[in-house]
Amino acid sequence: MNTAWARFLGALAALAAAALAAWLAVGAEWALALAVAGLLLMVLHHVRNLAAFLHWLEVPRRETMPIGSGAWETALAELHRHFKSRDESEHEVAVALARFRAAGQALPDGVVILNRERQIEWANPTAERHLDIDTRNDAGQAITNLVRNPDFLAYLGSGAYGEPLVLRRARGEASVLTLRVIDFGDDQKLLLTRDITLEEKLDTMRRDFVANVSHELKTPVTVLSGFVETLSDEAMVLSAEQKRKFLGLMSEQARRMQRLIEDLLTLSTLESSNAPPDDQAIDVRPLVEKLGEEARLLSGGRHKVQVSVETDARLTGSMREVSSALSNLVSNAVRYTPDGGAIQIGWRLRDGQGVFSVEDSGIGIEGRHIARLTERFYRVDNSRSRESGGTGLGLAIVKHVLTRHQASLEIRSEFGRGSTFSAVFPARRVEVIDAARAA
Ligand code: ADP
Repeated sequence: MNTAWARFLGALAALAAAALAAWLAVGAEWALALAVAGLLLMVLHHVRNLAAFLHWLEVPRRETMPIGSGAWETALAELHRHFKSRDESEHEVAVALARFRAAGQALPDGVVILNRERQIEWANPTAERHLDIDTRNDAGQAITNLVRNPDFLAYLGSGAYGEPLVLRRARGEASVLTLRVIDFGDDQKLLLTRDITLEEKLDTMRRDFVANVSHELKTPVTVLSGFVETLSDEAMVLSAEQKRKFLGLMSEQARRMQRLIEDLLTLSTLESSNAPPDDQAIDVRPLVEKLGEEARLLSGGRHKVQVSVETDARLTGSMREVSSALSNLVSNAVRYTPDGGAIQIGWRLRDGQGVFSVEDSGIGIEGRHIARLTERFYRVDNSRSRESGGTGLGLAIVKHVLTRHQASLEIRSEFGRGSTFSAVFPARRVEVIDAARAA
């Protein structure tokens, strides 16, 4: 028996006991009068509490619930406890739901919940972006009315969701999405979308790279195997002069493959190394002079080569990497400058930054090519690059080395007049040598 009942029956029993006592003490009339008065008081008490309760029921909020008296007090306290625990459970559910929604909003993948009629019940902002939908305006709409792509419609209708659907979108910025459908609950569906544009791009780059390398190796390998066949054909009578010529061509092709493999290895070492460059103090003047010597050697007297060092300094960086990058710039200047041209190799300071520059009076580059020059195998003129021993990887190597040193490559060029390639190192890698103190 609950406590409210116990209190009610207790009050009734007390009244009955009082009436019995009055009967015995002062007679039946008084006992009846007392019982009637007591019952009236009890009814009044219950009517008052009932009125307060009915009034509260019009707007039943936990905070305004009446306290009540007697049996009502116990019953209302019980009700209050019940309301409180329901409010707490509701609050917990609301917090859990808000947390779930916040997690859904933050997901880098798109999530859409569809009901059995394929209507959108909920979607996160990523899915809205991926599918071009707006849940505030489109809530309750069937997704098949909003995403009209035929492949999507066929996929959703097929019920075969083992493999994800790949959607290519040409609208706006071209992008590639994968889309998965997962059945759950009562014929509901979870639609997951993921943007794989970057992965696709990297895949294409990888495929292009392999195709380019194979293409680069194909010619020298074909030439070499042709000559090997010719030289090993005993029926073929070759003069000493012819043999010398063939062997010369063969070693030229072998050198070409060697250069390509060396550049590929350099590039792969640079790309796979997460470690910062092996920092050393590089004296700039001897480095610039060494580059000048290299230019003269490559040029073989065909160009006028000059070097200049405006301010003596030390550069912090990997000697091997920096000198290989600058050698590439020097070799390009020599290779792309016709005989009689001039090449100027210099070092100067610019607002504290250290600038190595290689300037030539060569063939120059049209503006439209400049942004792409550091891509692997990008060449303005394929045959000119190959004839002069180029691998198409030089500037890609330069770019990598400079990036690893937080330095940048600046290219200025005028078609037909010449180019200047500058490697700009940040001030914190440059230490000016105090000439007076050094002396
Ligand atoms: P390559 O081995 O072909 O020279 P690089 O990556 O070093 O490859 O250079 C990419 C392309 O940039 C070259 O093929 C050439 O067309 C152009 N280029 C680079 N340096 C110069 C330069 N100093 N003058 C004109 N063109 C240049």
